[in-house]
Amino acid sequence: MDQHLSRKPLEGERFPIVVVGGGINGVAIARECARAGRRTLLVEQHDFASGTTSRSTRIIHGGLRYLEHAELGLVRESLRERGHLLRECPHLVHPLHFLLALDENSRRSALTVRMGIWLYRQMADARVGIGSARDEERKLERLLDSGHRWSILNFEDAECEFPERLVAEWLVEAIEAGAVACNHTQVLAIDVRYGRVVGALLRDRLSGREERVETSWVINATGPWVDRICQRSQLKLKQPMVGGIRGSHIVLPRFAGAPEAAIYTEASDGRPIFVIPWNEQILLGTTEVPDTSDPAKTQPAPEEIEYLLKSLLHLFPRSKISAQDVRYSFAGIRPLPFSPDASPSAISRKHFLRDHADDGAAHMISVIGGKLTTAAQLARECAGMLGLSSTSVNAIRIAPVKGLNLLLDQWVAEIGKTGGLSEAAARSIVEWHGKRSQPISRLIAGRPELRAPLCQHNSHIVAEAVDAITNECAATLADVLLRRVPVALGACWSKECSREAAIRIAAAMGWDDMQLGMELEAFENERAAFLRKPGSTEPILAAAD
Ligand SMILES: Cc1cc2nc3c(=O)[nH]c(=O)nc-3n(C[C@H](O)[C@H](O)[C@H](O)COP(=O)(O)OP(=O)(O)OC[C@H]3O[C@@H](n4cnc5c(N)ncnc54)[C@H](O)[C@@H]3O)c2cc1C
Repeated sequence: MDQHLSRKPLEGERFPIVVVGGGINGVAIARECARAGRRTLLVEQHDFASGTTSRSTRIIHGGLRYLEHAELGLVRESLRERGHLLRECPHLVHPLHFLLALDENSRRSALTVRMGIWLYRQMADARVGIGSARDEERKLERLLDSGHRWSILNFEDAECEFPERLVAEWLVEAIEAGAVACNHTQVLAIDVRYGRVVGALLRDRLSGREERVETSWVINATGPWVDRICQRSQLKLKQPMVGGIRGSHIVLPRFAGAPEAAIYTEASDGRPIFVIPWNEQILLGTTEVPDTSDPAKTQPAPEEIEYLLKSLLHLFPRSKISAQDVRYSFAGIRPLPFSPDASPSAISRKHFLRDHADDGAAHMISVIGGKLTTAAQLARECAGMLGLSSTSVNAIRIAPVKGLNLLLDQWVAEIGKTGGLSEAAARSIVEWHGKRSQPISRLIAGRPELRAPLCQHNSHIVAEAVDAITNECAATLADVLLRRVPVALGACWSKECSREAAIRIAAAMGWDDMQLGMELEAFENERAAFLRKPGSTEPILAAAD
């Protein structure tokens, strides 16, 4: 988009801190550093949250499963962070009932799992705040394969249906605190002189411009790309920091009688499988396959799709779901610590911060591993390594979940009134934008034509897209429709919806026909590469490097 082709040049500028990678971890770190008063540059080669962050199962969880590996510290930390997210971002992070279904062949005994759930609840500082799951349990009992003896147990966790939105909110907070954020800008190399970081070489991928910035600290938060930056910067590491483990998902329509609760079960090899109600569809995942290929191009293999479908049919043979029903599939690479001899399930999900002073690059830190759930904690630790004191944890107001629902209702009423919106439209906007709905409703008050829906099938509106471009660094149509206002992940989405949305956004932003055509084509290519219909032969987009 034109305004981004004339982005402010950075050549020769000095930033005390440069954060490389705009996934949830990089954005959280940039926010933390900016809040601590350091002018921070955040650089993302594609778009914020377009990497692993948007390819996850989207559960905000304490990690019941980690109890098996006696990772009590990780579970305690994750449960605490789950509580913070539920209270800080009630519009995006919701409580979720899980039903754990084990049959007579399960590798885990129902008694052991029951004890694990008891311990899990004891370790949480507060309950998630949902009522009894008895009705859902009965519904599940009726649906399960009657040829097996099932044990059903229930527990609570949470879901962030759109981590893309969580990242967008944290990004705006980082910018408000003084950070400079550049998406579609790749770090080509870190400049290290006399054993210490002094700068970074960047390439703006929209304009092609190459620039050098000066810095005292570099945080390498590039997820599964973390080793590549070090290689390009001539750091000599004895072994890779991460060993990529691919996880694949499929998205299915909700089948008749599908439970509202999330289901946690075991696949035939004992691995956990999640069946999650997501975005009015079903998200089914995941797998664990070692994968050292380019993370931008990773795709589910046909065997993984078969494995996931088989696990679903083992639970629900009467659902008659088949490969033809799969709406799309996607995969991401878990940036887990390099552990060539361990089974993928046994590798710790803890995060690590590696100081590269001993690798000949003092003042460079790499982030290894981590989860959506613990990104804010990771950011606080990282700021601590830089000698900065944390601000955000003190700012968290703990309010009861019920009170938060009332707060959301109040926002819906307020923005409905300011923007002249229907309750349904106001609620959709609040659910995705939280308190950022207010600037959107003020935008509509001045330009009522922005109330038009993005497509006929949902109540998200053009004003959200305009706000994304104006205030949330969305630079392409794909940034808008896949991540800031992620309507294109929805059940309805078709090429017709893309066209309709693009025409309306183009009119609101003043794009000419040529720009509209180019944006639309690039969006369709990116969507087809990310959300693949199994069996699709469309080419996978070229990655950044
Ligand atoms: C299959 C799967 C399921 C998961 N499920 C869950 C879950 O349910 N709950 C949970 O809490 N966690 C989950 N996770 C873990 C979680 O998604 C990740 O730990 C988290 O998203 C990692 O975020 P990140 O910011 O470190 O990496 P990323 O999101 O990958 O961000 C790194 C960014 O760096 C950018 N980058 C790379 N190289 C450069 C460069 N040279 N210059 C500039 N930018 C660059 C990339 O484009 C990318 O956007 C899951 C992960 C996977 C793969």
